[in-house]
Amino acid sequence: MANLNPKVSIIGAGNVGMRYAYALIVRGLAREIVIVDKDKKRLEGEVMDLTHTAPYTSPVNIVNGDYRDIAGSDLIVITAGVKQRVGQSRLELIESNVKLFREIVPLLMKYAPEAVFLNVTNPVDLLSYVTYKISSKPSASVIGSGTVLDTARFRNLLAKHVGIDSRNIHAYILGEHGDSEFPVWSRAMVGGILFKDYCPKCCVRGKSCNHKEELGKIFKEVKESAYKIIERKGETSYGIGLALLRITEAVLNDQNAILPVSSLVKDYLGLDDLYLSLPAVVNKRGLDYILNIELNNEEQELLKSSAKVVKDILTKIGF
Ligand code: NAD
Repeated sequence: MANLNPKVSIIGAGNVGMRYAYALIVRGLAREIVIVDKDKKRLEGEVMDLTHTAPYTSPVNIVNGDYRDIAGSDLIVITAGVKQRVGQSRLELIESNVKLFREIVPLLMKYAPEAVFLNVTNPVDLLSYVTYKISSKPSASVIGSGTVLDTARFRNLLAKHVGIDSRNIHAYILGEHGDSEFPVWSRAMVGGILFKDYCPKCCVRGKSCNHKEELGKIFKEVKESAYKIIERKGETSYGIGLALLRITEAVLNDQNAILPVSSLVKDYLGLDDLYLSLPAVVNKRGLDYILNIELNNEEQELLKSSAKVVKDILTKIGF
């Protein structure tokens, strides 16, 4: 039965948390939104500001909250923690954010153990695994935003390249949400046609291109885009805000949507017991199952290298 009073809690009222909250309000997906942040003054200002959207949106109760207010949440979105500075990689954030998660996760378990936890804080794959371990929740109910954002960037650039609406492009960035992520070219499709067969035809539209070189540039742009945005404005938040909205819709509306969220990988191509992004079915349980996508040999090797990056750090930090 449809949940008539969906409740979402957001931990962290920073750039990402607030872009997401705003999108959630505009889309009218939740009846109650609790926002928690250690910076009480900023939180108060954000909640006051968000509340003034009321005459233009579906009714929603926006709460300037404390951890005890998250009780009864269907979904908890974790965006608290330090973010990348210019030139810094996501992996460099691990120590401070693990320390923070050791404080936050027990509080989430104390007040809302039944909720689906969606982690966004970077490094997202490592911290989603850390959340799963500290919480001892079933892995299905702990997911990370993974490469949903990177996949959106990828689809957008591919769409521009072929001159087709990005909603008609099916293509994934998989692996770690970070420098070792990789594109699945062998499965990329435009309107049901494999990209490798379609793309040469786009040249017929008067845009002849060096196919291989162009595709290389597209992936480079995807991989570098967070660095470029951070260099210019200090943070990335609009894209991730809507990527989170998409995942939220899948969870609250029990959509069985296929999204490359970060989830526990169990015995997949020899990989086991770590979080990485693979296409997965997302619904009200969180993650239902990971799709057995066929990767070619090169892509399998890229997935294994990405997994190694994540595993090595998990070992280093004692998880
Ligand atoms: P921000 O600095 O604007 O916000 C972080 C917020 O966390 C701050 O308001 C801070 O007060 C709060 N916070 C810190 N400790 C807290 C605690 N114990 N309890 C409650 N709140 C606490 O940062 P941001 O730009 O919003 O980024 C947040 C995180 O999201 C970063 O780790 C960033 O790297 C990550 N991020 C992830 C993606 C993705 O695709 N996964 C994309 C963009 C950003």
